[in-house]
Amino acid sequence: MTTPLIEARGLVKRYGTTDALRGASLRLLPGEVLAVTGPSGSGKSTLLHCMSGIVRPDEGEVRYTGGVAGAERLDQAGEGRRSTLRRTDFGVVFQFGQLVGELTALDNVALPLLLAGTSRAAAHESAGTWLERFGVRGQAALRPGEMSGGQAQRVALARAMVTGPKVVFADEPTGALDSLAGEQVMTALVHAARESGTAVLLVTHDAQVAAYADREATVRDGVVEGQDETVAEVTR
Ligand code: ADP
Ligand code: MG
Repeated sequence: MTTPLIEARGLVKRYGTTDALRGASLRLLPGEVLAVTGPSGSGKSTLLHCMSGIVRPDEGEVRYTGGVAGAERLDQAGEGRRSTLRRTDFGVVFQFGQLVGELTALDNVALPLLLAGTSRAAAHESAGTWLERFGVRGQAALRPGEMSGGQAQRVALARAMVTGPKVVFADEPTGALDSLAGEQVMTALVHAARESGTAVLLVTHDAQVAAYADREATVRDGVVEGQDETVAEVTR
């Protein structure tokens, strides 16, 4: 049996009187591209936020096994540890890539490395390589406002991958794009992830986007459907 890279069990998250998650369980295996689909408001983003340590669940466990210290509980980790993991082990991309508007594409991608203490020259070299992999090297000197939405998302993916994360969390990364640009972003993401062995947790409501994944899990009313089947499938 493959040990999951991240395992969420029985997650409950409430916002006031809203139950965003009501006992959601999900396993992400090392290197797999897992699509999380489901209706709007079903809890997909909340699940991603809990599994990436952005928010802590009210109940349930999130176990991460990829760190240097072995298995650890993200649901119990403090903000400092969780934000360190988001810099070192996890890459995150949202619907709008959240690039720094004042920086060029090259500087945006170099930023996580500079924050980690990499020299400027080495950071720029890696950033250039990742822009190349995502087909946007030609945009290296442009600022986000000077690029198309699809180009900006590919730059955001390059920034998410540049540190060599174990997992990339992507929440509707093509949600603001037309279908051709969305297809280019997904092809680039899946190709880069497979090449580097990075797992991807991909939230999408778009069946065409989900088709790029190795496996699909559906969230409905705050729980992951067919969770028992999912467990059977990965332990086979
Ligand atoms: P999805 O990503 O599937 O659309 P979400 O996880 O964003 O669903 O939201 C699940 C439910 O929790 C929704 O009813 C949403 O309104 C609510 N919710 C999510 N985040 C917050 C928040 N920060 N504050 C209040 N309610 C929230
Ligand atoms: Mg969402």
